[in-house]
Amino acid sequence: MTSAATRAIPPAMSTRLQPARGTRDMIGADARRHVAVGDTARRIAALYGFEEWFTPIFEDTRVFSRGLGETSDVVAKEMYSFPDRGGEMLTLRPENTAGVCRALVSNGLTQSLPQKAFYAGPMFRYERPQKGRYRQFHQIGCEILGAAEPLADAEVIAAGWHIIQALGIADGVVLEINTLGDAESRDAYRAALVAYFTRHAENLSEDSRMRLEKNPLRILDSKDAGDRALLADAPAITAYLTGAAAAHYAAVLGYLRGMDVPLRENPRIVRGLDYYSHTAFEFVTDRLGAQGTVMAGGRYDGLVEEMGGPATPCVGWAAGMERLALLMEAADRTPPAPRPVAVVPMADEAPALVVLQALRAAGIHAEMEYRGNPKRRLERANKRQARAAVLVAGDGSLQVKDLDSGTQVAATLHGLVEMLPTQ
Ligand code: ATP
Ligand code: MG
Repeated sequence: MTSAATRAIPPAMSTRLQPARGTRDMIGADARRHVAVGDTARRIAALYGFEEWFTPIFEDTRVFSRGLGETSDVVAKEMYSFPDRGGEMLTLRPENTAGVCRALVSNGLTQSLPQKAFYAGPMFRYERPQKGRYRQFHQIGCEILGAAEPLADAEVIAAGWHIIQALGIADGVVLEINTLGDAESRDAYRAALVAYFTRHAENLSEDSRMRLEKNPLRILDSKDAGDRALLADAPAITAYLTGAAAAHYAAVLGYLRGMDVPLRENPRIVRGLDYYSHTAFEFVTDRLGAQGTVMAGGRYDGLVEEMGGPATPCVGWAAGMERLALLMEAADRTPPAPRPVAVVPMADEAPALVVLQALRAAGIHAEMEYRGNPKRRLERANKRQARAAVLVAGDGSLQVKDLDSGTQVAATLHGLVEMLPTQ
Protein backbone atom coordinates (compact mmCIF):
# COMPACT_ATOMS: atom_id res chain seq x y z
CA MET A 1 0.00 0.00 0.00
CA THR A 2 1.30 3.47 -0.90
CA SER A 3 0.47 6.37 1.37
CA ALA A 4 -0.60 9.73 -0.02
CA ALA A 5 2.65 11.23 1.23
CA THR A 6 4.90 8.87 -0.73
CA ARG A 7 2.80 9.17 -3.86
CA ALA A 8 3.22 12.94 -3.78
CA ILE A 9 7.02 12.62 -4.10
CA PRO A 10 7.89 12.52 -7.80
CA PRO A 11 10.32 9.85 -8.99
CA ALA A 12 13.90 11.07 -8.67
CA MET A 13 14.57 11.09 -12.41
CA SER A 14 11.76 13.51 -13.21
CA THR A 15 12.97 16.39 -11.03
CA ARG A 16 16.14 18.07 -12.09
CA LEU A 17 16.94 20.37 -9.21
CA GLN A 18 18.07 23.89 -9.97
CA PRO A 19 19.92 26.38 -7.75
CA ALA A 20 17.42 28.43 -5.73
CA ARG A 21 16.27 31.65 -7.41
CA GLY A 22 18.90 34.37 -7.16
CA THR A 23 21.75 31.98 -6.31
CA ARG A 24 24.39 30.67 -8.67
CA ASP A 25 27.16 28.14 -8.96
CA MET A 26 30.64 29.36 -9.72
CA ILE A 27 32.76 26.85 -11.57
CA GLY A 28 35.75 27.16 -13.91
CA ALA A 29 36.41 30.72 -15.16
CA ASP A 30 33.65 32.10 -12.86
CA ALA A 31 35.31 30.52 -9.84
CA ARG A 32 38.77 31.67 -10.90
CA ARG A 33 37.59 35.27 -11.15
CA HIS A 34 35.90 35.01 -7.75
CA VAL A 35 39.05 33.63 -6.14
CA ALA A 36 41.17 36.33 -7.81
CA VAL A 37 38.91 39.05 -6.41
CA GLY A 38 39.18 37.65 -2.88
CA ASP A 39 42.90 36.89 -3.00
CA THR A 40 43.84 40.24 -4.55
CA ALA A 41 41.68 42.19 -2.10
CA ARG A 42 43.11 40.29 0.87
CA ARG A 43 46.70 40.88 -0.31
CA ILE A 44 46.22 44.61 -0.92
CA ALA A 45 44.21 45.13 2.28
CA ALA A 46 47.13 43.57 4.20
CA LEU A 47 49.46 46.23 2.74
CA TYR A 48 47.27 48.80 4.48
CA GLY A 49 47.27 46.90 7.77
CA PHE A 50 43.84 45.27 7.57
CA GLU A 51 43.59 41.84 9.19
CA GLU A 52 40.87 39.43 8.15
CA TRP A 53 37.91 38.95 10.50
CA PHE A 54 35.54 36.02 10.27
CA THR A 55 32.14 36.68 11.78
CA PRO A 56 29.11 34.36 11.63
CA ILE A 57 26.94 34.21 8.53
CA PHE A 58 23.82 34.37 10.68
CA GLU A 59 23.27 36.70 13.61
CA ASP A 60 20.55 37.69 16.03
CA THR A 61 18.11 39.66 13.86
CA ARG A 62 18.54 42.70 16.11
CA VAL A 63 22.17 43.11 14.95
CA PHE A 64 20.76 44.23 11.59
CA SER A 65 17.43 45.76 12.56
CA ARG A 66 19.18 48.04 15.06
CA GLY A 67 22.30 48.50 13.03
CA LEU A 68 20.83 49.27 9.64
CA GLY A 69 17.64 50.97 10.82
CA GLU A 70 14.11 49.58 10.64
CA THR A 71 13.22 51.83 7.71
CA SER A 72 16.15 50.90 5.48
CA ASP A 73 15.23 48.96 2.34
CA VAL A 74 17.43 46.08 3.46
CA VAL A 75 15.69 45.62 6.83
CA ALA A 76 12.20 46.47 5.62
CA LYS A 77 12.15 44.27 2.50
CA GLU A 78 15.27 42.23 1.87
CA MET A 79 16.26 40.19 4.92
CA TYR A 80 16.24 36.42 5.19
CA SER A 81 15.00 36.09 8.76
CA PHE A 82 13.70 32.97 10.48
CA PRO A 83 13.09 31.60 13.95
CA ASP A 84 15.42 28.66 14.65
CA ARG A 85 14.27 25.50 16.41
CA GLY A 86 14.76 27.19 19.78
CA GLY A 87 12.55 30.11 18.73
CA GLU A 88 15.39 32.63 18.44
CA MET A 89 15.01 35.15 15.59
CA LEU A 90 18.01 34.87 13.30
CA THR A 91 18.94 36.60 10.05
CA LEU A 92 21.33 35.59 7.29
CA ARG A 93 23.64 38.58 7.15
CA PRO A 94 22.62 41.06 4.42
CA GLU A 95 25.91 42.95 4.90
CA ASN A 96 28.80 42.70 7.32
CA THR A 97 29.45 46.11 8.82
CA ALA A 98 26.90 45.56 11.58
CA GLY A 99 28.40 42.11 12.27
CA VAL A 100 31.94 43.53 12.50
CA CYS A 101 30.76 46.21 14.96
CA ARG A 102 28.90 43.59 16.99
CA ALA A 103 32.12 41.52 17.04
CA LEU A 104 34.19 44.52 18.14
CA VAL A 105 31.93 44.89 21.17
CA SER A 106 31.48 41.14 21.88
CA ASN A 107 35.26 40.64 21.91
CA GLY A 108 36.03 43.62 24.14
CA LEU A 109 38.09 45.23 21.38
CA THR A 110 36.71 48.70 22.05
CA GLN A 111 39.59 48.84 24.57
CA SER A 112 42.23 48.48 21.83
CA LEU A 113 41.44 50.89 19.05
CA PRO A 114 41.90 51.47 16.23
CA GLN A 115 41.16 48.08 14.66
CA LYS A 116 41.37 47.48 10.92
CA ALA A 117 39.19 44.63 9.67
CA PHE A 118 39.01 43.02 6.23
CA TYR A 119 36.33 40.46 5.37
CA ALA A 120 35.14 38.45 2.40
CA GLY A 121 32.13 36.19 2.23
CA PRO A 122 28.50 35.54 1.30
CA MET A 123 25.65 37.96 2.02
CA PHE A 124 21.93 37.39 1.53
CA ARG A 125 19.19 39.74 0.38
CA TYR A 126 15.73 38.93 -0.90
CA GLU A 127 15.92 40.99 -4.12
CA ARG A 128 14.69 40.70 -7.68
CA PRO A 129 17.57 38.83 -9.33
CA GLN A 130 19.23 40.27 -12.43
CA LYS A 131 22.73 40.54 -13.82
CA GLY A 132 25.02 41.66 -10.98
CA ARG A 133 22.18 41.34 -8.43
CA TYR A 134 21.62 38.08 -6.59
CA ARG A 135 19.99 36.77 -3.43
CA GLN A 136 23.19 35.14 -2.31
CA PHE A 137 26.07 37.38 -3.32
CA HIS A 138 29.51 38.02 -1.90
CA GLN A 139 31.22 41.07 -0.54
CA ILE A 140 34.72 42.08 0.37
CA GLY A 141 35.00 44.92 2.83
CA CYS A 142 37.42 47.03 4.85
CA GLU A 143 36.53 48.79 8.10
CA ILE A 144 38.63 51.10 10.30
CA LEU A 145 37.10 51.03 13.76
CA GLY A 146 37.92 53.69 16.32
CA ALA A 147 39.43 56.52 14.27
CA ALA A 148 37.66 59.86 13.76
CA GLU A 149 40.48 61.44 11.78
CA PRO A 150 39.95 62.28 8.09
CA LEU A 151 43.15 60.36 7.26
CA ALA A 152 41.27 57.17 8.17
CA ASP A 153 38.53 57.99 5.62
CA ALA A 154 41.17 58.62 2.96
CA GLU A 155 43.17 55.49 3.79
CA VAL A 156 40.22 53.13 3.60
CA ILE A 157 39.19 54.65 0.26
CA ALA A 158 42.77 54.47 -1.04
CA ALA A 159 42.87 50.75 -0.16
CA GLY A 160 39.66 50.23 -2.16
CA TRP A 161 41.05 52.08 -5.16
CA HIS A 162 44.31 50.09 -4.92
CA ILE A 163 42.29 46.84 -5.01
CA ILE A 164 40.37 48.02 -8.08
CA GLN A 165 43.67 48.88 -9.78
CA ALA A 166 45.30 45.58 -8.80
CA LEU A 167 42.35 43.70 -10.33
CA GLY A 168 43.05 45.50 -13.62
CA ILE A 169 39.57 47.05 -13.78
CA ALA A 170 40.29 50.68 -12.89
CA ASP A 171 39.50 51.82 -16.43
CA GLY A 172 35.98 53.28 -16.39
CA VAL A 173 35.62 53.14 -12.59
CA VAL A 174 35.27 56.47 -10.81
CA LEU A 175 35.19 57.42 -7.14
CA GLU A 176 32.19 59.63 -6.37
CA ILE A 177 32.29 61.26 -2.97
CA ASN A 178 30.10 63.42 -0.79
CA THR A 179 29.67 64.37 2.83
CA LEU A 180 26.53 63.90 4.90
CA GLY A 181 27.97 66.19 7.57
CA ASP A 182 27.52 65.81 11.30
CA ALA A 183 24.18 65.60 13.11
CA GLU A 184 23.76 69.39 13.20
CA SER A 185 24.46 69.76 9.46
CA ARG A 186 22.11 66.92 8.66
CA ASP A 187 19.26 68.32 10.77
CA ALA A 188 19.47 71.62 8.90
CA TYR A 189 19.73 69.84 5.56
CA ARG A 190 16.86 67.50 6.36
CA ALA A 191 14.61 70.49 7.09
CA ALA A 192 15.54 72.06 3.74
CA LEU A 193 14.86 68.80 1.90
CA VAL A 194 11.51 68.33 3.60
CA ALA A 195 10.50 71.88 2.61
CA TYR A 196 11.57 71.28 -1.01
CA PHE A 197 9.99 67.85 -1.46
CA THR A 198 6.80 68.85 0.34
CA ARG A 199 6.37 71.54 -2.30
CA HIS A 200 6.71 68.84 -4.97
CA ALA A 201 5.00 66.00 -3.11
CA GLU A 202 2.51 65.34 -5.93
CA ASN A 203 5.41 64.40 -8.24
CA LEU A 204 7.13 62.09 -5.76
CA SER A 205 6.89 58.31 -6.04
CA GLU A 206 4.85 56.57 -3.38
CA ASP A 207 8.02 55.15 -1.78
CA SER A 208 9.55 58.60 -1.60
CA ARG A 209 6.43 60.11 -0.06
CA MET A 210 6.93 57.55 2.71
CA ARG A 211 10.61 58.49 2.92
CA LEU A 212 9.62 62.15 3.27
CA GLU A 213 8.01 61.24 6.59
CA LYS A 214 10.64 58.83 7.86
CA ASN A 215 13.99 59.60 6.28
CA PRO A 216 13.95 62.31 3.61
CA LEU A 217 17.68 61.91 2.81
CA ARG A 218 16.85 58.53 1.29
CA ILE A 219 14.96 60.26 -1.49
CA LEU A 220 18.35 61.30 -2.88
CA ASP A 221 19.10 57.58 -3.34
CA SER A 222 15.81 56.86 -5.19
CA LYS A 223 15.96 55.01 -8.47
CA ASP A 224 12.51 56.25 -9.59
CA ALA A 225 12.73 58.37 -12.76
CA GLY A 226 10.21 60.97 -11.51
CA ASP A 227 12.08 61.34 -8.22
CA ARG A 228 15.36 61.68 -10.06
CA ALA A 229 13.98 64.53 -12.14
CA LEU A 230 13.06 66.40 -8.96
CA LEU A 231 16.53 65.85 -7.54
CA ALA A 232 18.13 68.09 -10.13
CA ASP A 233 16.89 71.22 -8.31
CA ALA A 234 16.89 69.85 -4.76
CA PRO A 235 19.09 71.68 -2.24
CA ALA A 236 22.63 70.28 -1.85
CA ILE A 237 24.11 69.58 1.58
CA THR A 238 27.13 71.79 0.95
CA ALA A 239 25.23 74.92 2.02
CA TYR A 240 24.19 73.36 5.35
CA LEU A 241 27.53 72.03 6.62
CA THR A 242 28.83 73.20 9.99
CA GLY A 243 32.40 74.51 10.04
CA ALA A 244 33.67 71.27 11.59
CA ALA A 245 31.89 69.07 9.04
CA ALA A 246 33.16 71.17 6.14
CA ALA A 247 36.71 70.98 7.54
CA HIS A 248 36.54 67.18 7.89
CA TYR A 249 35.37 66.83 4.31
CA ALA A 250 38.01 69.22 2.96
CA ALA A 251 40.71 67.28 4.78
CA VAL A 252 39.50 63.95 3.33
CA LEU A 253 39.59 65.40 -0.19
CA GLY A 254 43.07 66.80 0.44
CA TYR A 255 44.42 63.46 1.68
CA LEU A 256 42.89 61.62 -1.27
CA ARG A 257 44.55 64.01 -3.69
CA GLY A 258 47.82 63.53 -1.78
CA MET A 259 47.43 59.76 -2.18
CA ASP A 260 46.71 60.18 -5.88
CA VAL A 261 43.16 58.81 -5.79
CA PRO A 262 41.13 60.40 -8.61
CA LEU A 263 37.66 61.52 -7.48
CA ARG A 264 34.51 63.29 -8.52
CA GLU A 265 32.41 65.12 -5.98
CA ASN A 266 28.74 64.19 -6.20
CA PRO A 267 26.35 65.91 -3.76
CA ARG A 268 23.66 63.27 -4.54
CA ILE A 269 25.57 60.39 -2.93
CA VAL A 270 23.83 59.24 0.23
CA ARG A 271 24.03 55.72 1.44
CA GLY A 272 20.96 53.52 1.81
CA LEU A 273 21.60 52.60 5.44
CA ASP A 274 20.83 54.67 8.50
CA TYR A 275 24.21 54.63 10.13
CA TYR A 276 26.25 56.98 7.94
CA SER A 277 27.59 60.47 8.72
CA HIS A 278 30.31 62.65 7.17
CA THR A 279 32.04 60.95 4.23
CA ALA A 280 29.88 58.88 1.83
CA PHE A 281 31.31 57.45 -1.37
CA GLU A 282 30.79 54.99 -4.18
CA PHE A 283 33.05 53.61 -6.85
CA VAL A 284 30.80 53.54 -9.92
CA THR A 285 31.07 52.36 -13.52
CA ASP A 286 28.86 52.71 -16.57
CA ARG A 287 29.84 49.20 -17.72
CA LEU A 288 27.41 47.16 -15.66
CA GLY A 289 24.08 48.69 -16.68
CA ALA A 290 21.81 49.46 -13.76
CA GLN A 291 24.14 47.67 -11.33
CA GLY A 292 26.79 50.40 -11.65
CA THR A 293 27.95 50.66 -8.02
CA VAL A 294 30.86 48.32 -7.41
CA MET A 295 32.10 49.54 -4.03
CA ALA A 296 30.32 51.73 -1.52
CA GLY A 297 30.80 53.01 1.97
CA GLY A 298 31.35 55.89 4.30
CA ARG A 299 31.74 57.01 7.88
CA TYR A 300 29.45 55.60 10.50
CA ASP A 301 29.99 57.04 13.92
CA GLY A 302 26.91 55.66 15.70
CA LEU A 303 26.85 51.96 14.87
CA VAL A 304 29.09 50.55 17.62
CA GLU A 305 26.86 52.27 20.20
CA GLU A 306 23.84 50.57 18.63
CA MET A 307 25.63 47.28 19.37
CA GLY A 308 25.96 48.22 23.03
CA GLY A 309 29.51 49.57 22.89
CA PRO A 310 30.96 53.02 23.60
CA ALA A 311 30.76 55.80 20.99
CA THR A 312 33.29 54.70 18.36
CA PRO A 313 33.96 56.52 15.11
CA CYS A 314 34.36 54.16 12.14
CA VAL A 315 34.75 54.30 8.39
CA GLY A 316 34.64 51.55 5.77
CA TRP A 317 33.28 50.15 2.54
CA ALA A 318 31.93 46.98 0.98
CA ALA A 319 32.20 45.83 -2.61
CA GLY A 320 30.18 43.26 -4.53
CA MET A 321 32.57 40.49 -5.56
CA GLU A 322 30.29 39.44 -8.45
CA ARG A 323 30.34 42.97 -9.85
CA LEU A 324 34.13 43.17 -9.58
CA ALA A 325 34.33 39.77 -11.31
CA LEU A 326 32.02 40.98 -14.12
CA LEU A 327 34.37 43.92 -14.67
CA MET A 328 37.34 41.53 -14.76
CA GLU A 329 35.58 39.49 -17.40
CA ALA A 330 34.81 42.61 -19.46
CA ALA A 331 38.44 43.76 -19.17
CA ASP A 332 39.70 40.34 -20.29
CA ARG A 333 41.25 39.77 -16.88
CA THR A 334 39.96 36.25 -16.30
CA PRO A 335 42.83 34.22 -14.83
CA PRO A 336 43.84 31.46 -17.26
CA ALA A 337 43.06 27.85 -16.40
CA PRO A 338 46.03 26.21 -14.70
CA ARG A 339 48.29 24.18 -17.00
CA PRO A 340 49.63 21.08 -15.30
CA VAL A 341 52.75 19.08 -16.04
CA ALA A 342 51.56 15.64 -17.14
CA VAL A 343 53.45 12.64 -15.83
CA VAL A 344 53.19 9.72 -18.26
CA PRO A 345 54.34 6.24 -17.22
CA MET A 346 55.82 4.49 -20.26
CA ALA A 347 55.80 1.16 -18.43
CA ASP A 348 55.23 0.66 -14.67
CA GLU A 349 53.34 3.34 -12.73
CA ALA A 350 55.64 2.96 -9.70
CA PRO A 351 58.61 5.12 -10.88
CA ALA A 352 56.15 7.64 -12.35
CA LEU A 353 54.48 8.05 -8.94
CA VAL A 354 57.85 9.01 -7.45
CA VAL A 355 58.27 11.72 -10.10
CA LEU A 356 54.67 12.90 -9.66
CA GLN A 357 55.06 13.46 -5.93
CA ALA A 358 58.55 14.98 -6.31
CA LEU A 359 57.14 17.60 -8.68
CA ARG A 360 54.27 18.40 -6.33
CA ALA A 361 56.69 18.62 -3.41
CA ALA A 362 58.68 21.16 -5.43
CA GLY A 363 55.54 23.30 -5.86
CA ILE A 364 54.82 22.26 -9.44
CA HIS A 365 51.24 21.44 -10.48
CA ALA A 366 51.59 17.87 -11.79
CA GLU A 367 48.97 15.32 -12.73
CA MET A 368 48.90 11.73 -13.92
CA GLU A 369 45.96 10.33 -15.83
CA TYR A 370 44.19 7.54 -13.94
CA ARG A 371 44.38 5.04 -16.78
CA GLY A 372 45.34 4.34 -20.41
CA ASN A 373 48.41 3.36 -22.40
CA PRO A 374 51.15 5.99 -22.91
CA LYS A 375 49.64 7.18 -26.20
CA ARG A 376 46.17 7.71 -24.67
CA ARG A 377 47.62 9.44 -21.66
CA LEU A 378 49.63 11.83 -23.83
CA GLU A 379 46.53 12.62 -25.87
CA ARG A 380 44.63 13.45 -22.72
CA ALA A 381 47.53 15.59 -21.47
CA ASN A 382 47.37 17.61 -24.67
CA LYS A 383 43.63 17.92 -24.38
CA ARG A 384 43.82 19.33 -20.88
CA GLN A 385 46.42 21.86 -22.07
CA ALA A 386 49.30 20.44 -20.05
CA ARG A 387 52.40 22.58 -20.55
CA ALA A 388 54.81 19.65 -20.56
CA ALA A 389 54.80 15.86 -20.33
CA VAL A 390 57.35 13.92 -18.32
CA LEU A 391 57.74 10.45 -19.83
CA VAL A 392 58.90 8.02 -17.17
CA ALA A 393 60.51 4.78 -18.39
CA GLY A 394 60.38 1.52 -16.45
CA ASP A 395 63.96 2.08 -15.18
CA GLY A 396 63.01 5.56 -13.92
CA SER A 397 64.82 7.49 -16.67
CA LEU A 398 63.04 10.64 -17.83
CA GLN A 399 62.28 12.49 -21.03
CA VAL A 400 60.59 15.89 -20.93
CA LYS A 401 58.40 16.93 -23.81
CA ASP A 402 57.39 20.56 -24.20
CA LEU A 403 53.79 20.24 -25.38
CA ASP A 404 53.74 23.68 -26.98
CA SER A 405 56.87 23.28 -29.14
CA GLY A 406 57.01 19.47 -29.25
CA THR A 407 60.72 19.37 -28.38
CA GLN A 408 61.80 16.48 -26.22
CA VAL A 409 64.96 16.17 -24.09
CA ALA A 410 66.35 13.73 -21.52
CA ALA A 411 66.31 14.93 -17.90
CA THR A 412 67.11 13.95 -14.32
CA LEU A 413 64.56 14.41 -11.54
CA HIS A 414 66.68 17.20 -10.05
CA GLY A 415 67.12 18.91 -13.42
CA LEU A 416 63.39 18.61 -14.05
CA VAL A 417 62.49 20.84 -11.13
CA GLU A 418 64.89 23.48 -12.45
CA MET A 419 63.49 23.16 -15.97
CA LEU A 420 59.82 23.44 -14.98
CA PRO A 421 59.51 26.56 -12.88
CA THR A 422 56.42 26.82 -10.70
CA GLN A 423 53.79 28.77 -12.61
P1 ATP B 1 22.28 48.77 -4.87
O1 ATP B 1 21.99 50.22 -4.95
O2 ATP B 1 22.99 48.23 -6.11
O3 ATP B 1 21.14 47.92 -4.42
P2 ATP B 1 23.20 48.84 -2.16
O4 ATP B 1 23.23 50.27 -1.82
O5 ATP B 1 22.04 48.00 -1.72
O6 ATP B 1 23.41 48.64 -3.75
P3 ATP B 1 25.34 48.18 -0.37
O7 ATP B 1 24.45 47.71 0.70
O8 ATP B 1 26.06 49.45 -0.21
O9 ATP B 1 24.56 48.15 -1.76
O10 ATP B 1 26.41 47.03 -0.73
C1 ATP B 1 27.71 47.33 -1.24
C2 ATP B 1 27.94 46.67 -2.57
O11 ATP B 1 27.53 45.31 -2.56
C3 ATP B 1 27.15 47.25 -3.72
O12 ATP B 1 27.77 48.40 -4.21
C4 ATP B 1 27.20 46.13 -4.72
O13 ATP B 1 28.43 46.09 -5.40
C5 ATP B 1 27.08 44.92 -3.84
N1 ATP B 1 25.70 44.41 -3.77
C6 ATP B 1 24.67 44.86 -3.03
N2 ATP B 1 23.57 44.12 -3.19
C7 ATP B 1 23.91 43.15 -4.09
C8 ATP B 1 23.22 42.04 -4.68
N3 ATP B 1 21.95 41.77 -4.36
N4 ATP B 1 23.88 41.25 -5.56
C9 ATP B 1 25.17 41.51 -5.89
N5 ATP B 1 25.88 42.52 -5.36
C10 ATP B 1 25.28 43.33 -4.47
MG1 MG C 1 20.28 47.30 -2.61
